[in-house]
Amino acid sequence: MKVDVVIIGGGASGLWLLDELSRLGYAVLLLEAFELGKGQTVASQGIIHGGLKYMLGGLPTRSAREIRNMPSLWRDCLRGVGSPDLRNTRVRAQYCHLWRTGAAQSRFGMWAASLFLRTPPKTLRTEDRPAPLANCPGVVARIEEPVIAPMALMADLLQQHRPRILRFDLDRGMAFSLDGPGQVRTIELIDPDSSSDTKLTLQAGAIVLTAGVGNARLRTMAGLTTAAMQRRPLHMVMLRGDLPELNGHCIDGAKTRATITSDVDSSGRRVWQVGGQLAEAGVAFDEGTLLDRAKSELQVVLPEVDLRHVEWSTYRVDRAEVSTKYGMRPSTAQLLHEGNVLTAWPTKLALVPQLVRKIRARLSPPQSVAPIDFSSLVDWPRPQVAVPPWEQPQEWRQLNS
Ligand SMILES: Cc1cc2nc3c(=O)[nH]c(=O)nc-3n(C[C@H](O)[C@H](O)[C@H](O)COP(=O)(O)OP(=O)(O)OC[C@H]3O[C@@H](n4cnc5c(N)ncnc54)[C@H](O)[C@@H]3O)c2cc1C
Repeated sequence: MKVDVVIIGGGASGLWLLDELSRLGYAVLLLEAFELGKGQTVASQGIIHGGLKYMLGGLPTRSAREIRNMPSLWRDCLRGVGSPDLRNTRVRAQYCHLWRTGAAQSRFGMWAASLFLRTPPKTLRTEDRPAPLANCPGVVARIEEPVIAPMALMADLLQQHRPRILRFDLDRGMAFSLDGPGQVRTIELIDPDSSSDTKLTLQAGAIVLTAGVGNARLRTMAGLTTAAMQRRPLHMVMLRGDLPELNGHCIDGAKTRATITSDVDSSGRRVWQVGGQLAEAGVAFDEGTLLDRAKSELQVVLPEVDLRHVEWSTYRVDRAEVSTKYGMRPSTAQLLHEGNVLTAWPTKLALVPQLVRKIRARLSPPQSVAPIDFSSLVDWPRPQVAVPPWEQPQEWRQLNS
């Protein structure tokens, strides 16, 4: 089968790109080895950042400039007036809240952010504050950062593009034939569920790798170096039980001390994901130590919330990015173009639209290949959507004391 583009990896980047290219008339297929969004997207907190996090130091960094238009762009998609049409993607919260510890620098960062952000933070009157922040001694503000349910984003895009999304088995079901490093002539797939080794051979003008950490292995298969990629680990904390709904950041100096997002699990319990500094520093700790720290931290940043009867757990996950000199976070979505292979990392979920724009600029217009004959692919297995971390089997504990 001849196609314009093959995308490998169906997280937020791959699925958004698939939507864009198929609308523009490209003959395009997406190949997924596991479940859609497994890795980062479904593990993420789903915040569509508008730059606040990058403004806390006081000066508009490149990251802050790049990200400031993203909330309104995503909002258009979520309302069905932008592309992709994400009306079926659940929005967990329309805004994030912001509160701070006493550090003078956090006051300065918030002031600088209010000058720079597309929509400045709005200070809330006491009666408009969310319950967990009702008596917070400092300012509580609302910022223009919607929070989406990443799993729902995956399901929405799968629903819209199912015929174009194929599952394969990475170990026994996919091979590249190469003309040289980064020059992929064909991709051979074996139907992962068929005992008769049904094969599909794809010849594509361009191959786009959007497999997150999986890009390393795919690059090796394409004869390219893996030194181009870095992983930055996180050790996230989760709570479940009788918790109030809360989405927002507690700011301390130039850092987000804790970023909390809320959802509801399949048994109807409220779940919190806690990221920010706690999860960055938590990488060095085992689960027990991190949970002890998390409990003390949350008692400081949210003294009004009763945490005595909740259950706690953690998960580890790596962020996949283009490699940078000192292992720092890249400031923008990143793309490498080698031969007919493009390797893509959005750096942030919020920056996926920017990544897709960059990829489009590198692709030739659709060639006049025949439209894809989907009837020949109806029996090919399709991937499922990955489940969020709190639905995965793991130990939950109570922290009494
Ligand atoms: C804990 C955490 C919280 C985060 N919170 C936020 C946030 O609130 N806001 C924000 O903007 N960003 C956030 N991020 C960053 C954001 O999640 C990522 O930048 C983004 O989801 C990356 O999407 P992706 O599609 O490029 O990669 P992924 O989501 O990692 O998707 C990769 C896909 O490729 C598949 N795959 C893997 N290997 C292969 C292979 N070899 N072949 C084929 N398929 C393969 C996977 O199954 C998956 O479907 C967070 C990240 C983490 C880890």
